[in-house]
Amino acid sequence: MVLDKMAKAPSYLTIMRFIDEYRNEADAQKFIQAIQQVVTRPWTIMEICGGQTHTLIKFGIDRLLPDKINLVHGPGCPVCVTPLELIDQALAIAQQPEVIFTSFGDMLRVPGSETDLLSIKASGGDVRMVYSPLDAVKLAQKNPNRQVVFFAVGFETTAPPNAMAVWQAKQLGLTNFSILCSHVLVPPAMESILGASSTEEDLEGGRVQGFLAAGHVCTVMGYWEYEPLAEKYQVPIVVTGFEPLDLLQGIYLTIVALEEGRHGVENQYSRSVRREGNLPAQKLLQQVFTVCDRQWRGIGLIPNSGYRLSAPFADFEAASRFNVTHITAQESALCIAGKIMQGFKKPHECTAFGTLCTPEHPLGAPMVSSEGACAAYYQYRIFDLG
Ligand code: SF4
Repeated sequence: MVLDKMAKAPSYLTIMRFIDEYRNEADAQKFIQAIQQVVTRPWTIMEICGGQTHTLIKFGIDRLLPDKINLVHGPGCPVCVTPLELIDQALAIAQQPEVIFTSFGDMLRVPGSETDLLSIKASGGDVRMVYSPLDAVKLAQKNPNRQVVFFAVGFETTAPPNAMAVWQAKQLGLTNFSILCSHVLVPPAMESILGASSTEEDLEGGRVQGFLAAGHVCTVMGYWEYEPLAEKYQVPIVVTGFEPLDLLQGIYLTIVALEEGRHGVENQYSRSVRREGNLPAQKLLQQVFTVCDRQWRGIGLIPNSGYRLSAPFADFEAASRFNVTHITAQESALCIAGKIMQGFKKPHECTAFGTLCTPEHPLGAPMVSSEGACAAYYQYRIFDLG
């Protein structure tokens, strides 16, 4: 019996080999039925990854679940939480004639206060999309008379390759390579959400009572650092993958824990995640980065929630090399991205959703980013939400 195996053994899905098996409709229905059987009270669960958000909305999983289960969408989209002022700093650097500005594709369309990287490229700036920060290091080697900058944005998942790029650049003695660093860390953001104060209006949707943690982040960092959080706030946290059956199993395990009054960390994504994580990657992160306070777009300053370059690598920080740290920016007053990412609101509850704010003319990053919650609702729900 499939469900018995799934309920008792989170590693059941490890025997699957092909992507379509993780999208099997019959198995999905069995999970839905199992969830219906165990849920007796309203629960609010937050997923912490934009990829998970898109799978949930794209496949209509939130609508298949019993009404008692409220899924809210956390700050798991790296582009969405990157402060506007940092994007403006990137734009200022990219306009320098000696600079080759490199980035993953997802940052190119993100609007700053006045323009975006693609527009700078269109008007003659040397902006290039790369598939790896190590490609940017190679560019620096090939162009010794130019300054090559990589836009290092993201969670713990993308931090190791960015750390490796800086480490390599130092080994190679490159003085024309740097990164604009905006790395953020998941556990402090979860703690901020659990401890956030809220208005009565905010509380209509219910406070977050359980989390689906992001499987890829935990592949790097493990899940040991979530255990004190689960203990302190008495919440279940289920490390979860990204396919529909992963998410259904993660939700099922979370609901079972909530109904049984259990807290702690469970690992649904055991085909990739170990408790200790990727130790060599963590060692590299400790060498190249140091933990610092970070601004999260829409949320504000979260203590100890990010990385900056550690002292031996500080020369590779682009913000100070190009003297752009003074740049500040003003967010749209209409955008409620912060409330959405803290689980107080859903995208369609924003007055600008689908009217003043669309993917073509985004007011906030959750609409422009391919992993943003507003973009997911717009792409898959706009006609239903009217
Ligand atoms: S719909 Fe647009 S303005 Fe509203 S929260 Fe989303 S990104 Fe911000």
